[in-house]
Amino acid sequence: MEDNANDPATLSQAEWARRLTPEQHHILREHGTERPFTSPLNDEKREGVYKCAGCGAVLFTSDMKFDSGTGWPSFFDARPGAFATSRDMTLLMPRTEYHCANCGGHHGHVFEDGPAPTGLRYCNNGDALVFEPAK
Ligand SMILES: [Zn+2]
Repeated sequence: MEDNANDPATLSQAEWARRLTPEQHHILREHGTERPFTSPLNDEKREGVYKCAGCGAVLFTSDMKFDSGTGWPSFFDARPGAFATSRDMTLLMPRTEYHCANCGGHHGHVFEDGPAPTGLRYCNNGDALVFEPAK
C-alpha cells in the first residue's frame, strides 16, 4: 500500500488521520460540526485567504466574510469551483452540505439567508479552514 500525498482524493483513512488534528479530521472526514463560538476565525478580520485544512486549496477570500452572529465563520460567496454540494437530510430537514471540490473534505452548510449581493450564507467550521494573512 502506497499513499500518494500529492493527490488528496487518493489518501487512505489512516493517512488522513495522520495529517489532520482530531478536530479537523472529525469535521472534514466525518462530517462533524464544531461547537459555535469556539473558532478564533470568527473574529478574524485581516485581509487574506482561507484555505482548506485538508489540502490547502483556496476556498474563500477575506472580502467574502461577514459577521453572521451564528458563532461560525460565515461567508456570502466562495471561490469559483472551490466546493461541490450535496443534499443533507440528517436533521430531517433538507440542508445543502458543501465540501472541498479538491479533497472532498466536509466544510459546512450553505443557507439562503445571507447578505447581498449573493443572498447566500456559507456556514463554515473554523477548524476546517487555515487562514493565511495577506503579505
Ligand atoms: Zn480540500
